[in-house]
Amino acid sequence: MEIISEIAGMRRRIAALPRPIGFVPTMGALHAGHLALASAARSACASVVVSLFVNPLQFAPHEDLARYPRDLAGDCAKLEAVGTTLLFAPDAAQMYPPGFMTSVEVGAMGGRYEGVARPTHFRGVATVVAKLLAIVTPDRLYLGQKDAQQTAILRRMVTDLGFATQVEIVPTVREADGVAMSSRNVYLSAEERREAVSLHRALVTLRDRLQEGASKAEAIEEASAKLGSLARLEYLDVVDAQSFDALDALRPPAFVIGAARFGQTRLLDNLWIQK
Ligand code: AMP
Repeated sequence: MEIISEIAGMRRRIAALPRPIGFVPTMGALHAGHLALASAARSACASVVVSLFVNPLQFAPHEDLARYPRDLAGDCAKLEAVGTTLLFAPDAAQMYPPGFMTSVEVGAMGGRYEGVARPTHFRGVATVVAKLLAIVTPDRLYLGQKDAQQTAILRRMVTDLGFATQVEIVPTVREADGVAMSSRNVYLSAEERREAVSLHRALVTLRDRLQEGASKAEAIEEASAKLGSLARLEYLDVVDAQSFDALDALRPPAFVIGAARFGQTRLLDNLWIQK
């Protein structure tokens, strides 16, 4: 696997790569969820490009940018093992040199749910992914269902801005107990980690009760009761899979979504109801 950290070098290398090119943007600290995206790209594309960049634009000043887990050597070994062709690992000066001022503004979809807790987050995500798409020019962009609102926003951005890439969504990879894999799970204490599964259980209850015909208010109340005593719930809801508009009943394709804090760590999760 080749590793490139400069945009000019990427452009030269990309021009020579066999197509289709599959692209997986990440912030590193890779786990089996990220690797599922790279493997999906590997099985459908001639070349697999992964980016590793802890994007400062998508962190608010009080968030965990400085302590976000980093493990370049470990990440390279994992990417190599799943057949990655090329790793793009720029630093912040390469991506945002002095004078950088352009950003991608996302619409109303970016202001709800995750956007309430993190008002500038999706602008930062959309801006970096737009820049990465301009550099990598992939035929297919692989995103995780784990970050469902992000995938809906980026799918919209790809359409709205006319990027010539197809968006592929890969199902969430979970730990044995059902907790969605996340680079941030390492922040959880042993007790918080044991309780983290209650967010997944709440989503399963919400989905099942809606499917059984319960009212949304009833289903959310029952689902909330599944949360452990350490959990501080931020939201539980059912939304349209494309627009992320709240639904008053389960109308697929939809997501049941939730976020809760366990100690200092915010976890989010969802279930995808496709039909
Ligand atoms: P991140 O490094 O957290 O920015 O994630 C990079 C990509 O991996 C995003 O498209 C995520 O949605 C995806 N991803 C993260 N966790 C998982 C998971 N547990 N299963 C599948 N995809 C995931």
